[in-house]
Amino acid sequence: MSESDRTLNFDTLSIHAGCGSDPTTGARTIPIHQTSAYSFPNIEDAADIFHLRKAGYVYSRLTNPTVSALEEKLAALDGGVGATCTSSGISAQMLMFFTLLSHGDHFVAASKLYGGTLAQLRYQFKRAFNWEGTFVDPTDPNNFKRAITDKTKVIFVESPTNPENVIVDYEAIAKIAEEHNIVFAVDNTIGTPALCRPLDYGAHLVSYSTTKYLSGHGNAMGGAIVDGGNFNWKKEPEKYPTLAMPEPAYDNAVFADMFGEKAFCMHTHAVGLRDLGMNQQPLNAYLTVMGLETLGLRMEKHSKNAQQVAEFLTNHAGVDWVSYAGLPSHVSYKNGQKYMKDGMCSAVMTFGIKGGYDAAVDMVNNVKLFSHLANIGDTRSLLIHPASTTHSQLTDEQKTAAGTRPETIRLSIGIEDVRDIIADLDQALNYAMSQHKACA
Ligand code: PLP
Repeated sequence: MSESDRTLNFDTLSIHAGCGSDPTTGARTIPIHQTSAYSFPNIEDAADIFHLRKAGYVYSRLTNPTVSALEEKLAALDGGVGATCTSSGISAQMLMFFTLLSHGDHFVAASKLYGGTLAQLRYQFKRAFNWEGTFVDPTDPNNFKRAITDKTKVIFVESPTNPENVIVDYEAIAKIAEEHNIVFAVDNTIGTPALCRPLDYGAHLVSYSTTKYLSGHGNAMGGAIVDGGNFNWKKEPEKYPTLAMPEPAYDNAVFADMFGEKAFCMHTHAVGLRDLGMNQQPLNAYLTVMGLETLGLRMEKHSKNAQQVAEFLTNHAGVDWVSYAGLPSHVSYKNGQKYMKDGMCSAVMTFGIKGGYDAAVDMVNNVKLFSHLANIGDTRSLLIHPASTTHSQLTDEQKTAAGTRPETIRLSIGIEDVRDIIADLDQALNYAMSQHKACA
């Protein structure tokens, strides 16, 4: 069996894709190639590798065999032609926009995004690069259409969103992108390819914080972009000059001519990682490869636990509202049933506790099993009160727009026994209720 045989099924690819036995030692799990550089056999090979005429390793800022194994596995799982790994999810987004946009270009992004992404796209991209964003409510695909200008180079969404679990209509947005010949990119951090493969629904690029479910154990930072290989960069060559026109930063190479459907993936390595330097560390790639081996199993258990927790919360006297796409009352219920595997909507959700800010603080202070921290996608159940932490610098109005009101608590449901997860939430909610009459 070949480690890159794409006819294999998802759970088999999770284990085998990109990861055969080491050819020199026979080691069955991939080695951690902790090296900065690679010896060239001779000067001719060195020149060929440098000029991308021949595949080979030069320097770990560009490529590294352990990171390559992860890239191959991610591409196989998402159905892409290649992948580029980075140091974090935020840097994957930086690399993606850097490759697609030039000074003064425009993008349309969902208004519902992870808070750190919003800060990056709204403030830093504009200040440092003059990339102008329009942010639209992603629950209506036509909002994206209305915001497109002749300078728009990418439509960017996160689905399901952090923290409200909003799931977009991928096919409708892909159609709009197609009509305008614009790249459609999806942050699939919370969905993961185990539950949803955006490329199957017409997206062109998929980005990840591998820090979350893909590594899965809260122990490795990383990011990735999977290249669908399904965008015709040459259709309007001036639109994406880095890929379809001579690249002055690399011998005037025209990446779309040299590498065809792998142009984006090659450019992000040869130019993007070379010039921005946000390469992933081999130890983190190794840990993520190990985590990916159980992705299918974990996502099923995460989602089933989350569904039960959401139903429990809906029926709890101390809870005002629950935002989880597995509930028929959620704005994305239909999209969840259509696009997510067996309607499983991953395991990030929010809920509002009766009694507002103070009750939320009491509840969070009294959980025993849950970890109170700023992360999602761990085997462990996690929670945070955004209004006192991640979103504390916003006004009440801004908190509401971001889906994080004073009473909001974000949960990332782990894969412990769901009875223990629910028991912990129950006792913490009951404690908060006993302290705040308004909850009762
Ligand atoms: N995308 C989503 C959906 C996230 O939740 C996060 C982080 O929480 C990021 C991107 C950024 O990833 P990282 O923290 O790995 O930079």
